[in-house]
Formats: sequence, C-alpha cells, structure tokens
Amino acid sequence: MVILDGKAISAQIRAELAEKVKVLKAAGKKVPHLAAILVGDDGASRTYVNAKVLDCEEVGFGSTLINLPSETTEAELLKAINRLNNDKNIDGYIVQLPLPKHIDETKVLLAVDPKKDVDGFHPENVGKMTLNLPTYIPATPQGIVEILRRYNVPTEGKDCVVIGRSHIVGSPISILLSQHNYPGNCTVTLCHSRTKDLKQVCQKADIIIVALGSPGFVTADMVKEGACVIDVGITRMDDASKKSGFRLLGDVDYETVAPKCSFITPVPGGVGPMTRAALMMNTMKVTELI
Ligand code: NAD
Repeated sequence: MVILDGKAISAQIRAELAEKVKVLKAAGKKVPHLAAILVGDDGASRTYVNAKVLDCEEVGFGSTLINLPSETTEAELLKAINRLNNDKNIDGYIVQLPLPKHIDETKVLLAVDPKKDVDGFHPENVGKMTLNLPTYIPATPQGIVEILRRYNVPTEGKDCVVIGRSHIVGSPISILLSQHNYPGNCTVTLCHSRTKDLKQVCQKADIIIVALGSPGFVTADMVKEGACVIDVGITRMDDASKKSGFRLLGDVDYETVAPKCSFITPVPGGVGPMTRAALMMNTMKVTELI
C-alpha cells in the first residue's frame, strides 16, 4: 500500500513554481499576482485564505488579501470584484466560499472575469474544462489529478466511483477522470445522496474518490482489495489535546480501509495540501493562458 503524500508532493510543486518565478524575473517578465477576497470572519475560511497568502510568498508570487466585514452587501462585493477585474496588477483572484447567506454566490461567480478566475468556477471555464480545452481547473480536482499523475497511479480503463456531486469537487473530478487523458480514461460512476446500493457500487470500484463531509463514511467492507482511495473530506472535530483545538477527519475509515488499498490519501496531508498547490499552479497558468 502506497500512501499518496500530498504534503511532500505539494512542497515539490511549490519548489518547481518558485524556480519558474525566478526564470520569469530573470527575463524581466511580470510575476503572477494573486488576490483573495474574504467576506466575514469564518475561522476555517480565514485559515484557508491565510495559507494561500503564505503559499504565494513561498513561491514568489505577489499576493493581496481583501478582507471585507460580514455585513458587506452583495453590491459592495460586486464593486470589489469589478475593481479586481480592472486592476492590471492582479492576474488572478479568488472569492473565498462560503459567502454570507445574504449574498448570492452565483451572481458573484458570474461577475468574476473568466481570465482571472483561477478557481475555475466561472461557467465559461467550467465549459472549457468539460470540453478538455486549456483553462483553469478547480483546485481540488486539479490537485487530485496531479497527485495521481505524480504517483503514476494507473487509471486507464479503471472503474472509478466518485461519491459527492458538488460543483467544486465531485462533478469536475468525474468529468476529468472520464476524459481521454492521463490521468483519465476511467469509466466513472458519480454517486450522491440518492444513489441506491452505494456499498455495492463501491465494491466494484478500482478507484474511489469520496467528497461528502461525513467522517469515516467509507468503510473497509465497501472497498475492493487493491483499490485506490482518494479522501477529500475534511471535518473539523474539537480536540483539546491539539494546539489548534481541533483535528481533521476524512470521509474514509483510514485504519481499516488503508490495508486493503494499493494507494490511499491520508487526512490530513493528502488532498488538502494538493488543493493549495493546485491554486498556485493555476496562478502560474495566467502567464500561459492570457
Ligand atoms: P458538498 O458538501 O457540497 O456536498 C456533499 C455531497 O455529498 C453532495 O453531493 C451529496 O449528494 C453527497 N452526499 C451526502 N450524503 C451522501 C450519502 N449518504 N451518500 C452519497 N452521497 C452523499 O460537497 P463538497 O463541497 O465537495 O465537500 C465535501 C467534503 O470535502 C467536505 O468535507 C469538505 O470540507 C471537503 N473538501 C475538502 C477539500 C480539500 O481540499 N481537501 C476541498 C473541498 C471540499
């Protein structure tokens, strides 16, 4: 069983990007600049955004963090987005989700200039991804594809079951792995809360990708011997013994599932760091896609 070490691979990716930044600088070219908008004070969102800023610093990208209070109106947020769309110094930006309930997420995503949409959430970029055209791929599915590639995980002709159909993980990864690419060429089954006999569907899978947010949901009896299991789930559980006050739980019952697997991602240290690295890869892409 091979543990797919997202922490190590993401460090490798950041080092590669840092080298590319040096080359850009040496050629007198502009270094990518990423901005992030954070609305409100959600603890997890703040942690994610701060981590993105740190990643930019490590890689050598410019970064700008725009912190807006939770009472920011939809119109004010749209104005901030419009400013970023027109700011020549900003090459790409993200709007950290979730947004406060009074703001329409779809309206916000539609307002982002697709050329600066490094999260790959704008319909134009989703459409390009679906057609296998060059574009920004949402960070988590991009991170999954990248870790499969770097560990040479076999995917061609494999049966892949994706659990969860969100727009940011389940749906795009099901599209990417069914495409005529490596990693890809899988026969993909996309499962969700209405799927019947999920256990039986999973038992046939060579690759299981689970993104639902239910700790320990995938148990050993659902997994075939030799399967590759990618655990996207992140649930914060209070834990006074940790410095942070919480620990992270995945959607897989790791202790019992791991011994049956050919490959598995741990939580933490699997898909999470790959997601961060993929955002940096997308930010570097601004130099290629424009
Ligand atoms: P979501 O929370 O939007 O949706 C959950 C999905 O799970 C839905 O599609 C639903 O149909 C499905 N589901 C719920 N109950 C089910 C059941 N009993 N059987 C089958 N399917 C069921 O999904 P999301 O935003 O993709 O987040 C999923 C998890 O992944 C969360 O824990 C989130 O924190 C985590 N996440 C992690 C990363 C990362 O970088 N590691 C990135 C994004 C999300």
